[in-house]
Amino acid sequence: MNIGSKDCVLSFEVFPPRKNLPIESIYNTIDRLIDLKPESISVTYGAAGNDTSKRTFELAGQIKKHGVESVAHLISIGLSEDELTRKLKILKEKNVNKILALRGDIPKFSYEKGDFDHASDLIRSIKEKGDFYVMAAAYPEGHIDSHNLVEDIKNLRKKVDAGCDSLVTQLFFDNEDFYRFRDMCDLAGIDVPIQAGIMPVINKKQIEKMISLNGIKLPKKFLKIMKRYEDDKIAMRDCGIAYAVDQIVDLISSGVEGIHLYTMNNPYIAEKIHESIKNLIKL
Ligand code: FAD
Repeated sequence: MNIGSKDCVLSFEVFPPRKNLPIESIYNTIDRLIDLKPESISVTYGAAGNDTSKRTFELAGQIKKHGVESVAHLISIGLSEDELTRKLKILKEKNVNKILALRGDIPKFSYEKGDFDHASDLIRSIKEKGDFYVMAAAYPEGHIDSHNLVEDIKNLRKKVDAGCDSLVTQLFFDNEDFYRFRDMCDLAGIDVPIQAGIMPVINKKQIEKMISLNGIKLPKKFLKIMKRYEDDKIAMRDCGIAYAVDQIVDLISSGVEGIHLYTMNNPYIAEKIHESIKNLIKL
């Protein structure tokens, strides 16, 4: 896709505060992110025993009230058709028209399956029930449950066929994986916009968790940084920011349509990255 020199959009992702914290504890973070004028801010959704739907929808509604587009994540595990109808009504009342529709991770304990097997089933139902812009998740290295990337891309195509309007990727650290994935999407006839998910890694524990949950690989360049600075909090933070900026500049130069920044509710990091790339993106 040939896009103009400043057509790349920037979006942020936040998660609702833990249940033992007041919802207000995230307001300052959201205010600082809004000041950066992102294209949108998405709010994650905890499912299966950690239902955050109330807070997810509340925050998405508040972001929208501040004049910034918001995206509410929605997980299908345990969800019935009736419950989906109810949730969509709440989102409409809050003026939230964008949803990132996901299946969610399969819990390790026994759980209610719900009416949807996969994200594609959820997407189809949302599209039938109302006028929503629906996004879906994509995995440049393949989803951890898939046997291989080809199988995963065939399944990704099912989400697009079900009506999803755009895709947001899982975080990745090697842009070559993203470019290979994008080419494969082209071959598979996946023609919706794809936003690249970038997570600035600021501590070792955080990345170890991501790797064990999602099977993401770390390039040698990154491992070298981590080995040298893992015990120096400030140096590791600055390296994480610099690495993310380097990735983003390369992605924008290669015509990526959007950058989705996993902020980890850390506005300082979002501000630093924004400062470095603000003249390269659409504001
Ligand atoms: P699906 O699209 O259903 O895919 C899951 C697996 O099933 C894949 O291996 C796929 O290849 C396969 N598959 C898909 N469709 C079919 C089909 N029709 N037939 C057979 N196999 C199929 N998790 C949360 O709990 N909360 C969040 O807020 C959240 N936000 C996320 C945001 C982004 C941008 C991303 C990338 C992930 C997010 N996740 C979140 C994680 C996500 O819930 C997990 O990765 C989950 O395991 C898969 O969700 P999915 O929507 O991709 O599922």
